[in-house]
Amino acid sequence: MKIIVASRNANKVLEIKAVLDTDDYEIYSMHEAGVEVDIEETGSSFEENALIKARFVAKVSGETAIADDSGLEVDFLDKQPGIYSARFGGENTPYSVKNKMILDKLIDVPYEKRTARYVCSMAAAFPDGDDVVVTKTLEGYIAEEPVGELGFGYDPIFYVPEFDMTVAQMELKLKNEISHRGKALRALSEALKKRKQNRE
Ligand code: IMP
Repeated sequence: MKIIVASRNANKVLEIKAVLDTDDYEIYSMHEAGVEVDIEETGSSFEENALIKARFVAKVSGETAIADDSGLEVDFLDKQPGIYSARFGGENTPYSVKNKMILDKLIDVPYEKRTARYVCSMAAAFPDGDDVVVTKTLEGYIAEEPVGELGFGYDPIFYVPEFDMTVAQMELKLKNEISHRGKALRALSEALKKRKQNRE
């Protein structure tokens, strides 16, 4: 089965290739599949945005498409930045600045009130109009200051107590095992397998 990854991010395509069984699927980026479109994320939840992107690419290409939407929810900030995580503080603002903006909003907020989570919704849309979406999280706390050099985005301020480190201190292998995206991708892979078995 041919699958198009509805993302312009080459890393996401690689990540998805690494988890989905390539004996079963041929995975293409939008560019490789000749689908050159910009898709607006107009949904009001991670699930809606993932579905919007996957459905759109399935529709224009006539192939199966998968898409994700992810972000950071900070409980003390009423779950902001949420679906606006990439745009928070300005799309081109460096994460050192975005992270400081979040830390500044949490000055003097005690540890137990600094709860946060990474969320990832991963959707598959099929050419017959059917679709499936899964959502997974990584629970943690907003640190007092940025720590670590690995990862990207909000990782230096996202502390995971089980490992006593921020995500920016985790090797990629560990991050993929526990992360919202790693878990969502594996859950989607299972859902695709089940769908395939049901149709055989
Ligand atoms: P998306 O690519 O539209 O799903 O945007 C996701 C945004 O959420 C990223 O640009 C980051 O700001 C944030 N984000 C999602 N996952 C992670 C992660 O694993 N680490 C750090 N930031 C993340």
